[in-house]
Amino acid sequence: MSLVSPEWAMWLSPWVLGLLGLCIGSFLNVVIYRLPLMLEREWLSDTAEFLQDKAMLKRGLGAADKRVNEIAGFAEGLGAESEARPSLSLSRPRSRCPHCGHVLAWHENLPVIGWLRLRGRCSACKAPFGARYPIVEAATAALFATIAWHFGPSTATLVYLAAVALLIALAMIDFDTTLLPDGLNFALMGLGLTAAWQHWTPVSLPDAALGLLFGYGSLWALATAYQLLRGRRGMAEGDFKLFAALGALLGWQQLLPIILLSSAVGAVVGIYMVLARRHGREVPIPFGPYLVGGGLAALFFGQQLLLTLYPMLAG
Ligand SMILES: [Zn+2]
Repeated sequence: MSLVSPEWAMWLSPWVLGLLGLCIGSFLNVVIYRLPLMLEREWLSDTAEFLQDKAMLKRGLGAADKRVNEIAGFAEGLGAESEARPSLSLSRPRSRCPHCGHVLAWHENLPVIGWLRLRGRCSACKAPFGARYPIVEAATAALFATIAWHFGPSTATLVYLAAVALLIALAMIDFDTTLLPDGLNFALMGLGLTAAWQHWTPVSLPDAALGLLFGYGSLWALATAYQLLRGRRGMAEGDFKLFAALGALLGWQQLLPIILLSSAVGAVVGIYMVLARRHGREVPIPFGPYLVGGGLAALFFGQQLLLTLYPMLAG
């Protein structure tokens, strides 16, 4: 971990990074809303294209099978449906009200302030905008400022800012859709390994690489054992990748504190949800937000967690 040059240090103060966090939080709201829609449109059109391939269907089902035309016809409809969905990217089109389509003016789009001035309602149709938009912006700002304050003007601060932005997007997308997009998980893994390799963070490259392997392997083994015992999957592949990415970012030593913290909080919330009958026992509860929470705790309190945990395990 190295310090950045003095002329850059002022740009990494808690105030400056807190303000940057507000803007990044605003962008994360767009990512959280649009990325799953973009991926769904892509999957729909890929699947449609795949199933329209009659030669492939005939190879799979037999040339005489009547279902070949049925499936290809169905896939054509699916393709048309995916085409009819609005084409989105993270930068285009401009943010608009999901109810009436009113395009937000720049001052309505200001992080937190825009929402407060509108009192959380669309200026055109008065439909409410969820409070989570300003909450995501404020939380990003708070985390950015905390990183600046905790890690000082260093390369580690820059790495953790990028990591926290990815983690917020992952947690919220998992919460909304129970998906953890590969692109975000892989970006976090790449960031962790590169940072360790370049000595941008205090984690060594072997610790980061072992974190990646053990992170993926341990949850894979746990999920496989669970599946053998209970006959259904308790966890998805995205969770293994997210845990692996946290291992790459923070080193293998932090994997145990992260999984213990996230399982403890996840179990309490899960039991509450089942008891409150808000959630069937069979409905998968997204685990990503808890892993992200455990990861953030390890980022800020990693050393304390290790000092508490390992003597306890050693007896
Ligand atoms: Zn509206």
